[in-house]
Amino acid sequence: PYNGPSAADILQKRKQYLSPSIFCFYNQPVNIVDGKMQYLFDEKGRRYLDAFGGIATVNCGHCHPDVVDVIVKQINRLQHSTVLYLNHAIADFAEALASKMPGDLKVVFFTNSGTEANELAMMMARLYTGCNDIISLRNAYHGNAAGTMGATAQRVWKFNVVQTGVHHALNPDPYRGMFGSDGEKYARDVQDLIDFGTSGHVAGFISEAIQGVGGIVELAPGYLPAVYSSVKKAGGLFIADEVQSGFARTGSHFWGFESQGVVPDIVTMAKGIGNGIPLGAVVTTPEIAEVLTRRNYFNTFGGNPVCTTAGHAVLKVIEKEKLQENAYVVGSYLKERLLSLKDKYEIIGDVRGRGLMLGVEFVTDRKLKTPANVEILHIMDQMKEMGVLVGKGGFYGNVFRITPPLCFTKEDADFFVDVMDYAMSKIGLVQQPANLLD
Ligand code: PMP
Repeated sequence: PYNGPSAADILQKRKQYLSPSIFCFYNQPVNIVDGKMQYLFDEKGRRYLDAFGGIATVNCGHCHPDVVDVIVKQINRLQHSTVLYLNHAIADFAEALASKMPGDLKVVFFTNSGTEANELAMMMARLYTGCNDIISLRNAYHGNAAGTMGATAQRVWKFNVVQTGVHHALNPDPYRGMFGSDGEKYARDVQDLIDFGTSGHVAGFISEAIQGVGGIVELAPGYLPAVYSSVKKAGGLFIADEVQSGFARTGSHFWGFESQGVVPDIVTMAKGIGNGIPLGAVVTTPEIAEVLTRRNYFNTFGGNPVCTTAGHAVLKVIEKEKLQENAYVVGSYLKERLLSLKDKYEIIGDVRGRGLMLGVEFVTDRKLKTPANVEILHIMDQMKEMGVLVGKGGFYGNVFRITPPLCFTKEDADFFVDVMDYAMSKIGLVQQPANLLD
């Protein structure tokens, strides 16, 4: 049983002692005290199905015993900065991670977060090419430090501080973008940015395979191969930000970029890499990695034995429990069920994503695509009352982000959709016969 402070006490302390900028989901925030696989439990022992744990990112499931076991053993033995001395954990995990990468992507740098990984990747691209200009996508999220905030492209995540050297290309968003699903047309904007916004040479291009914070936006098919050829011609490197879409989440592939058939020069990762443990990584080729020998690059906790042991255990669990296959099978099934909800409720404008990285966009008018950003809060609240936690995002804050732990089952998918259906009917959303909908 839980004997700690109540939700109200914690909220009061947060208000008094924590930054006023932090925010919670829900008007009545949930006080989470325990986690077990795809479930979370509040202080009263009430169980919630966690359809958003992917954010933290517990790919294997909350407190997965195999991961917990190695963490506990390692922390009892040694926790230290591992760069200055030898320890097997960092080397073993780097080897295992490199084995999951295509091409010549064989050199790993460890960091503590996704922001740090992207900062390092952007710096390496700049050093390698001798250029400063980087192209990223509108609606992207890559981090919140000086360089990465520049690459992030949504005004709510950007502070008014100096952010130089990044150009933001048209987002190849099949639902809201001006060229629909024609990836090659959007790619021409990258060529335009290179021709009209730079010297003709760039350091690189950075993008997510599926935008997470941006509202589960899958890049239009054919986009990345076309952009690659423009960026390569301009001497730039391609950085794939796999912080959300990596580690088997998309189901069809281990890495999100693979669905567009491209091989990046640098791949960054975090979140799912450690099942909730603070860890990030940059993987690149030996030739590009060489640039960091020009000076010292040191990161006190990057690659520490506790975190890298956890990361190694995560790779083993993904393999042992066939989590990629599960993400594919359960994710495809869940997407089908969500698509049938779209036939039932006019407020659902779009259902998208891959594997267990799915999005549902709510609009009050399907033709005008007016964001239903008030309605979504009611649906979310109702679902919480029925024991389901889901994420929210997108530029307009009107998209459900469904990124559960990868151990999510078909039964969980059914429960999720049934609860969502009931929540929507309960708040009186219009149900339409399918033939009246476009
Ligand atoms: N890249 C992507 C795609 C992300 O979603 C995030 C975090 N939301 C980051 C980078 C930054 O990671 P972190 O919060 O660990 O710095």
